[in-house]
Amino acid sequence: MLTVENLPNLQGKKVYVRVDFNVPHKGAVISDDNRIRAAIPTIAALLKKGARVVLMSHLGKVDWKKFKKGEKTKEEIDAQMEKNNLEIAVEPLKAHISAAMGREVAVSFCPENRGPALKAAVEALRDGEILLAQNTRYQAGEEKNDPELAAEWASLVDVFVMDAFGSAHRAHASTVGVPSILKEQGKLVALGYLMIKEVENLSRCVEVKPEDRPYVAILGGLKVSDKIKVIDSLLKKCDYIIIGGAMAYTFKKALGESIGSSYCEEASLDYAKKCLEEAKGRIILPVDSVITDSFEPVEGRKIEVVSAIPEGFEGVDIGPKSAEKFADIISKAKMIFWNGPMGVFEQEEFQAGTKAVCVAIKNLEGKAFTVCGGGDSASAVKQFGYKDSFSHVSTGGGASLEMIENDGHLPGVDILR
Ligand code: AMP
Repeated sequence: MLTVENLPNLQGKKVYVRVDFNVPHKGAVISDDNRIRAAIPTIAALLKKGARVVLMSHLGKVDWKKFKKGEKTKEEIDAQMEKNNLEIAVEPLKAHISAAMGREVAVSFCPENRGPALKAAVEALRDGEILLAQNTRYQAGEEKNDPELAAEWASLVDVFVMDAFGSAHRAHASTVGVPSILKEQGKLVALGYLMIKEVENLSRCVEVKPEDRPYVAILGGLKVSDKIKVIDSLLKKCDYIIIGGAMAYTFKKALGESIGSSYCEEASLDYAKKCLEEAKGRIILPVDSVITDSFEPVEGRKIEVVSAIPEGFEGVDIGPKSAEKFADIISKAKMIFWNGPMGVFEQEEFQAGTKAVCVAIKNLEGKAFTVCGGGDSASAVKQFGYKDSFSHVSTGGGASLEMIENDGHLPGVDILR
């Protein structure tokens, strides 16, 4: 695959760079601009080659699906996309891009992402300048990979660079439509640095080498149904799959254990049974749980540690015996893939299980290849200060899971091959 590194001189060339600047924010205030900083090496390399960079990203959600279902009117959608709706307008990103470039680079913003205004803004760019276009999702055709929209975007530029790993599992107009058209026209399409790092690290978790065994996957979080395909795939690749978080209770119920009123997906019980049979002891479940009689942090709520959960209580974290058992398996691993917290880590009382997994992985430093597959587990790893203890922390939760599920294939990567 062509990468940003081996692109030729780009003087006079307009480059469409799909970035993932879907940053956490409230209005115009961005609380964490890591995603912007992570794309800077790619942008800087392109500018160094003389390119005129057009940055395209999504931010938040426009309710197109509700519009399609008739739950929202076109007027409501238009109102959502008013320039002053700073929950989805990307203009506040501009200041962060300028600051992150760390030198005098001209960054402009176009409040449109289609039509004559965008065309004029792209044409006005000079070598070494950056244009940030409006949120890609302002166009209903983005998520449908509308050929007309993709053709319009492709007509504006000479080169495409993909650096939005968090969106690479989605075949949208900006991730797949544009590069497929440019490729057909014999134009250059390439991977950015962020993508190279993600693809390299996650590919190692897909094509398992003998020296990477024992390979242990750790899954947590809420929904089994979200992770069904990944469990199937991991069962073929891993030596052990540790399951914590709310997900574990669907498996425990499938074994006939009492789970009180813990979160459970009745529709996934048969699947869980099938997995447990196929795994032949390789799926490791918690042996105790932290339970509460109130998920909401009300005063006087009961919090206990038990092995069998009574009615009226729900499991909200793995217990200390489970943490010890999981840590023991982790300590023998040569490769780890982790996605999903062990408990409700947003509440201090239920963080211990997720922290215990962080510590166990930190203890592997220098001895194993360890990957945190994005999403909430990546937030937890950062929040608890363990980011640097991992070989790789992915920027895309959904994308990293799909990459494992699909044996290393993602629409936004395959199109660049
Ligand atoms: P996911 O997006 O599927 O990775 O789920 C992440 C969410 O799962 C986080 O918000 C956690 O609070 C939640 N979670 C983890 N364990 C539990 C649990 N035992 N009960 C309820 N929610 C949980």
